[in-house]
Amino acid sequence: MVSGEFNLINKYFLSSSNRKDVSLGIGDDCAIVSVPEGKQLAITTDTLIDGVHFPSNTSPEDIACKAIAVNLSDLASMGAEPAWLTLALSLPQVDESWIKSFSDSFRQWAEKYNVQLIGGDTTQGPLSITVQAMGLVDAENIMRRDCARPGDAIYVSGTLGDAAAGLKIVQQGQVVDANHAWLVDRLNRPQPRVELGMKVSAVCRCAIDISDGLAADLGHILEASKCGATVNIDRLPLSHQLVEYSTNRDEVDWEMVLSGGDDYELCLVVTPENDNKLMKIASELSLPLTRIGVIEEHRSFNIIDETGARYLLDKAGYEHFT
Ligand code: ADP
Ligand code: MG
Repeated sequence: MVSGEFNLINKYFLSSSNRKDVSLGIGDDCAIVSVPEGKQLAITTDTLIDGVHFPSNTSPEDIACKAIAVNLSDLASMGAEPAWLTLALSLPQVDESWIKSFSDSFRQWAEKYNVQLIGGDTTQGPLSITVQAMGLVDAENIMRRDCARPGDAIYVSGTLGDAAAGLKIVQQGQVVDANHAWLVDRLNRPQPRVELGMKVSAVCRCAIDISDGLAADLGHILEASKCGATVNIDRLPLSHQLVEYSTNRDEVDWEMVLSGGDDYELCLVVTPENDNKLMKIASELSLPLTRIGVIEEHRSFNIIDETGARYLLDKAGYEHFT
């Protein structure tokens, strides 16, 4: 890397947060961190590419927020406590005002979740942002995709389909009221359910974060756990903003709710006896948790409406290579 780029890193990416478990942060060939006795390291990475993972007119502040959020959402789904980040940035040119806005927002969101940026890479190329997030987890509290069992209840946090509606609004360029603005915010500034993941990991063995739509992501759990599920479409939690955007609940686009991407809510699979404990956690966090269905032994995935009739999806979720 040339010295100009090094100045850029010093100027914009040296973190203000100083976690005690970071012995060496940005500046050397590697960062050095300490994993506490008894903890295990959870590691994940996600790339955001201009025009693929965010619309090209997304602000640098929102891109930074989303780059962190999508990674912390993966940690949340495993029950891990976020600790450290690395950032590989590919920038088409050195636009200092863009970099300043991006790095200010990045720092702000990192501080909010008490994660420290400890290294990265800066290159010239099409705009792309890769964040790696590392977190700490107790071995006995890890939530995995392959631990669902027949009879378990299926829950989701928050509301579904908001970000997909937000994307539609951005693509059609029609932000006209507060509901629209809120839905676009759900697309651009997802809130990773970090606290929820950490808390429920005491009572839940199986979870996934919903990044490609409930149908596809719950599908991953069913595949890994070798079982099936029934989900009631009338139980799916919707925001009043989405309902109003759609005119009323009967007019809601269920494809958007079940297969739209970018929800970043958690889907939890829990033995039914733990319902009370889950509801207590939900109320402590002021975050709705909704029971939407049940895990079945038979390996089919049924989405049913209020009459019990099967709802057939056109597409199961966002796939990159189709
Ligand atoms: P090397 O040449 O050894 O790969 P670099 O010169 O690329 O190292 O980077 C110098 C230091 O700056 C390293 O500690 C690296 O982790 C850090 N760094 C580079 N780019 C970024 C970035 N975008 N965000 C955070 N740290 C970065
Ligand atoms: Mg390098």
